[in-house]
Amino acid sequence: MSHNTFSVGRLRCHLLETGLQHLDGGAMFGVVPKALWERRIAPDPKNRIPLALRCLLVEHDDGLVLVDTGIGDKDDAKFREIYGVDNLAADGRTRLEHALEELGYGSADVRWVVNTHLHFDHAGGDTRRAPSGEVLPAFARARYVVQRGDLEFARHTNERTAGSYLAANFDGIDFQLLEGEAEVLPWIRCLPTPGHVPFHQSVLIESGGERACFLADLVPTAAHLPLPWIMGYDLEPLVTLETRRRLYARAEAEAWRLCFEHDPVVASGRLVREGKGFGLVDTVAAA
Ligand SMILES: [Zn+2]
Repeated sequence: MSHNTFSVGRLRCHLLETGLQHLDGGAMFGVVPKALWERRIAPDPKNRIPLALRCLLVEHDDGLVLVDTGIGDKDDAKFREIYGVDNLAADGRTRLEHALEELGYGSADVRWVVNTHLHFDHAGGDTRRAPSGEVLPAFARARYVVQRGDLEFARHTNERTAGSYLAANFDGIDFQLLEGEAEVLPWIRCLPTPGHVPFHQSVLIESGGERACFLADLVPTAAHLPLPWIMGYDLEPLVTLETRRRLYARAEAEAWRLCFEHDPVVASGRLVREGKGFGLVDTVAAA
């Protein structure tokens, strides 16, 4: 099984396991001392930690909605080695394709692709390389959605940001561009959650009084729940802090199911206050 399924009101949702990447544990935990973070996620001999590439699939009246697309398969061996990418099945296809197939779907069934932002580990599967070498949208019948600000940011990189925004993942896609909070479809709302990058967004599913939020890089793993446990990759860590503070207040009050894109063990859970900090209840393990 490479998915787990839950419902939010009338909507069936699936968290799809599309593989792993391995990133430096120090970079993933920013200013948090290793003596603390290594108890939560153990590093390998190269100090790297495993990180899931989990996507959200929503069965909607309008067709399938896919939130983020993993890393895809366009990159060369050197890239895959550096980032410890392990996202292909034995037959050479991506685990995302397999996860969709397991649910009885193919890429043509996906009608909406919502990107939280255009970093390669979130939008790498947006496109694929055809046998001719041409790069094409991987979901031919889908409308792709992202914040206008993130597409601009992705197209105008500097020495710090260029490594994560790879043009092959977004050039040639005719995005529907959002400006701030937006209900892209009934029951599916994009929430600006800046900090990791300035125009990062999370996706809130709300139906029948229930809510689930795909946090993406606002809180990449459950180990990052403490407010100051912020990635070294974040461009605006103090903005991340305040974004989290606001979101946690709503998540706790409304009992949101929080979905973690990169946690190798915990797929989702509900936020509760534990003393001065936060914890999770009702957790669901990675499939
Ligand atoms: Zn990420």
